[in-house]
Amino acid sequence: MTTQNSFTPWQQIKQAVKSLISNQEYTTWIAPLECTSIAGGNQLFIKAPNLLFYQRIHDAYLPLIEKIKTDLGLDHLLIEFDTLNPQPDHEVTPENVECESSSSAKETASDSQAISIKSGSAEGHLNSNYTFATFVKGTSNQFALSTCIAVAAKPGQSYNPLFLCGGSGLGKTHLLHAVGNEVLKNNPDASIVYITSERFMNEMIYCIRFGKTLEFRQKYRSCDVLLIDDVQFISGGKKATQEEFFHTFNSLYGAKKQIVMTSDVLPQSIPDIEDRLRNRFQWGLIADIQPPNTEHRIAILLKKAAALGIKLNLEVAEYIAKHKKKDVRELEGAIHRLRAFSEFDNVPINLALAQTIFQDVFITETPKKLSIEQIQKTVADHFKIKIADINSKKKHTAIAHPRQIAMFLARKLTTASLPELGVRFGGKDHTTVLHNVKKIEAAIVSDLDLKAVVTTIQRHLESLH
Ligand code: ADP
Ligand code: MG
Repeated sequence: MTTQNSFTPWQQIKQAVKSLISNQEYTTWIAPLECTSIAGGNQLFIKAPNLLFYQRIHDAYLPLIEKIKTDLGLDHLLIEFDTLNPQPDHEVTPENVECESSSSAKETASDSQAISIKSGSAEGHLNSNYTFATFVKGTSNQFALSTCIAVAAKPGQSYNPLFLCGGSGLGKTHLLHAVGNEVLKNNPDASIVYITSERFMNEMIYCIRFGKTLEFRQKYRSCDVLLIDDVQFISGGKKATQEEFFHTFNSLYGAKKQIVMTSDVLPQSIPDIEDRLRNRFQWGLIADIQPPNTEHRIAILLKKAAALGIKLNLEVAEYIAKHKKKDVRELEGAIHRLRAFSEFDNVPINLALAQTIFQDVFITETPKKLSIEQIQKTVADHFKIKIADINSKKKHTAIAHPRQIAMFLARKLTTASLPELGVRFGGKDHTTVLHNVKKIEAAIVSDLDLKAVVTTIQRHLESLH
């Protein structure tokens, strides 16, 4: 056995993995893996922090690592994971593993497997917990759910493409996997590809680098159902990626194969994408998902708790639902926290416990009031103009239109009176403010583009606290 220093092959492999996955995944799972020794010239010993960690690597990343080895011409290397001597400073506690396994790590696992350049069934790529049965219906997601059910029953025949749109943590990824799971249930031979748009871009760059564009095309253009998550990130990609995506889209659409996409904004609000791609996104059906109301949040809490074998009474569910309003991910987090505290202190889950755990948090989490300046700045940034312009008396549309939107949002999202708004918008009369607010209020009903812009800015503002 020799000692470390010269383990460039492992570093090469790590670098290639890094180019394919998100930074967060890399830092969490791959960066900590160190090559400690090499034997016989071809046996690399890789130290994983502990057994749990090793299992995650084995399930989620080993196929990718093996593939990269081949691409780099390093097939002769044997990779051995050394879990007997865990790294003492790297702690993966059962608590954080559990939280991760409930959402991100599973997504991570499915994402990374999507890398394998292999067509065929996508069972391994899909999170089997994300099904229609585990999705709780409410008025805010009913339409999206029904369209997904229709699409899964007859892929390529009802709504194509289906574009799911909604804020973060509202169940888009869940529904996307549910479509895949349902199609596979009805037809186990169906070829389904689930991928995030970020991964799609990374993989394409990787395939170009290793001369595998044909395989890439074959994989994406030969599937029966293409599920693309977070398609808004395609805008960050290069022109070539959008081009490839455009052709993939056309080829699948032409062959009547189903495409389902998710995004946190409407197609018209995805910045920096080619119009022809934007057009394609709008060809089929757009289904919006809104945040759940209190009743819906209670139903979700009760169902999630039951699925985890936790007894949650209505009183506790109501208490959480009243305070955790942001999204469903937050509700799941609350249940995990409750369970952890109850197990740790060996006390039952009741209102007293919930109050003890969440009281402080709720106080600090009470939404900070949005300031008028924040609204003005966000609107100005969106339209790439200056705050000073918003507060000026300039009348041309490029300035007056954003100003009207800013006034509308300030009226809607703050408690400021009309005269106060007048003052804060550069000393205008309150009737001017009212006129502008009414103008947007009326236009938004029929002008979908305007609605999309206002919704995007509002979501952005809401995410600021
Ligand atoms: P998004 O992709 O919109 O950001 P996710 O699909 O990742 O959101 O949802 C976040 C978490 O909330 C997931 O664990 C998902 O299972 C859960 N979730 C969201 N909406 C629902 C729902 N209506 N019923 C049950 N679980 C839900
Ligand atoms: Mg998602």
